Amino acid sequence: MSFNTLGLSTELLRAIQEQGYTQPTPIQSQAIPAILEGGDILAGAQTGTGKTAGFTLPLLQRIAKIKQNSKSNHIRALVLTPTRELAAQVSDSVTRYGKYLPIRSTVIFGGVKFGPQANKLRKGVDVLVATPGRLLDHVRQQTVDLSGVEILVLDEADRMLDMGFIHDIRQIMQTMPKKRQSLLFSATFSSAIKQLANSLLHKPVHIEVARDKVTTESIKQIVHPVDRQRKRELLSYLIGSNNWEQVLVFARTKRGTDRLALQLKQDGIRTASIHGDKSQGARTKALVDFKHGKIRVLVATDIAARGIDITQLPHVINYELPDVAEDYVHRIGRTGRAGNIGEARSLVCVDEHKQLREIERLTQNNLTHTVIPGFEVDKSIKAEPIQRGRSKKEASNKPSNFKAKRKGEARKPGGKRPPLHAMSNKSRSRNNSGQSRHSA
Ligand code: AMP
Repeated sequence: MSFNTLGLSTELLRAIQEQGYTQPTPIQSQAIPAILEGGDILAGAQTGTGKTAGFTLPLLQRIAKIKQNSKSNHIRALVLTPTRELAAQVSDSVTRYGKYLPIRSTVIFGGVKFGPQANKLRKGVDVLVATPGRLLDHVRQQTVDLSGVEILVLDEADRMLDMGFIHDIRQIMQTMPKKRQSLLFSATFSSAIKQLANSLLHKPVHIEVARDKVTTESIKQIVHPVDRQRKRELLSYLIGSNNWEQVLVFARTKRGTDRLALQLKQDGIRTASIHGDKSQGARTKALVDFKHGKIRVLVATDIAARGIDITQLPHVINYELPDVAEDYVHRIGRTGRAGNIGEARSLVCVDEHKQLREIERLTQNNLTHTVIPGFEVDKSIKAEPIQRGRSKKEASNKPSNFKAKRKGEARKPGGKRPPLHAMSNKSRSRNNSGQSRHSA
């Protein structure tokens, strides 16, 4: 199938051609015509399937078709994403695909200044990509007007719910017109997602692309059994002996991420780390340096790495296995993207056998077990409970209360923000501090 048969305009086809895409991915060939028809969509797709173009291309076409001069602060299409990194990437796609269309777009997320975002919104924006926490702050400050939203996209909706965004999303939805086109993309369908879909979507078209196709077909998955205390040594050995130049490493905790990055640096390997306690500037710099080969290893927590899209990223390492097997699929989906072959290796110690069993079940036992000579497992070592530390919060993706408390506006983890009308002017201005409480 070619893109020409999907009903897209010449401006979009030109932009697609410049990207070098020759044919639509399965999600694109199903979603694009359905979205162009104007109906709601419930799509099961994970990152790496081409879902971003799947909703961005038809969204741009529909918005461009009905010409309107965007009034100040008035948004026509809104894309909500769970993390800043994913928001930035989706926004980048909107810019690239919309290159030949007279459409203005911008992105807003927490961790950076509020004022410049408000200025951009004031100038008029057709397509807004945003994370829920910061968007709600703009709604409260009346620096954005969602009363004219024609198309709403919830991207990675499962992850947004995991991160405790549901109350923010519901409050944001209250400020939008009921009559609109809504598109929900999610990798998994828990009962919470189904409930959200029922309340949000009207007679949706269901689209499902084979869930684990990307991971099982294009990614070589290897498990290296190793002792708990020798993981770092093995990691350095693998990187050095194989001459790997670009490796994304997942660790479980924020502190563990920093510690590992430091140790690898001490081993002479150019390394940076990203996690939710790092400033947005530091996160962006680490990602850019990693993409451009200035650093060889990026150590990340699950949330911070969410949505990282580096074409031809060859190696993903699970330094520690995730608690939730689904996260394993998300992690290794950073490699083997867009038709490239990738490799995902997991360093597994005796403490992690339960997690490994769950992952093997989910991935239908596609993992090869290989012991690296010199790193044989000492069978006398007994399993110990996994240290969770502060990262448990991050692992369970609950919004951190830490920053909020410092600002005197504590919320219970996962707790509700006060309703819009209940906020005093004082708390509104405090809320305008420029910090996202939900940031990953
Ligand atoms: P996504 O699942 O949206 O994160 O996209 C994953 C990757 O696939 C991105 O690097 C896209 O640029 C790339 N991509 C999207 N659509 C296509 C296509 N039709 N052909 C080749 N690559 C694509």
